[in-house]
Amino acid sequence: MSFAATVLTLYPEMFPGPLGLSLAGRAMADGKWSLDAVQIRDFATDKHRSVDDTPAGGGAGMVMRADVLAAAIDATARPGVPLLAMSPRGRPLTQERVRELAAGPGVAILCGRFEGIDERLFEARDVELVSIGDYILSGGEIGALVLLDACVRLLPGVMGAASSGDEESFESGLLEYPHYTRPQMWEGRTIPEVLRSGDHAKIKAWRHAMAESDTRSRRPDLWERHNGVRVQPPSDARHEEEE
Ligand code: SAH
Repeated sequence: MSFAATVLTLYPEMFPGPLGLSLAGRAMADGKWSLDAVQIRDFATDKHRSVDDTPAGGGAGMVMRADVLAAAIDATARPGVPLLAMSPRGRPLTQERVRELAAGPGVAILCGRFEGIDERLFEARDVELVSIGDYILSGGEIGALVLLDACVRLLPGVMGAASSGDEESFESGLLEYPHYTRPQMWEGRTIPEVLRSGDHAKIKAWRHAMAESDTRSRRPDLWERHNGVRVQPPSDARHEEEE
């Protein structure tokens, strides 16, 4: 069974966009996944086909209407398929969540626009709010493309060498080690000697050490989580510190 994505958006023309090319595009042409971009406006009921209204309590911008969005969701829902909404107020997307979603039957993704979505929608329907990072986009569409790209590359048979996923950043809780390729000498810089040694154990150890040092310096948050309880001082030491 292939992975089926439904995207609810005011801009269905944005899809499949970049996902129609390269790895994801080939996988789509091969029937490994499918994408249905649904125009939210088709579910508006008034003669102006309005999907938004002014914010309750005042303030700038417009808010997407819960009634119109619920109609779009209810008309397109598929049993067992999780409903996600792109939002900077959501839980940050992780490789772990991507892996879970890619293992399932597909996703439905609601893309916000304007100031966001009437909060009652999230109470009335089972919606998982997903953020792609701590910055504000103009709409959820690019976030949906990000999420789908991350899922599609994990689908069976999509990545050329299946093993190329295993060592990647985040899979082990660390950033990946740095890569090099020919030419051997470029602008006076050589490829690290160890990578040319042919000693696979040594190469593996070097790569692991690089993954650790890059993670420690660039992503102290990941490094701390990777080390888990090991960063805690032993209880004796803690006791001494308190005194
Ligand atoms: N006023 C809102 C931002 C609205 S941006 C706030 O401050 O929280 C408009 C839409 O873009 C959102 O509804 C959401 O669907 C999308 N969006 C913006 N930033 C996003 C992010 N970091 N992750 C996921 N979706 C985002």
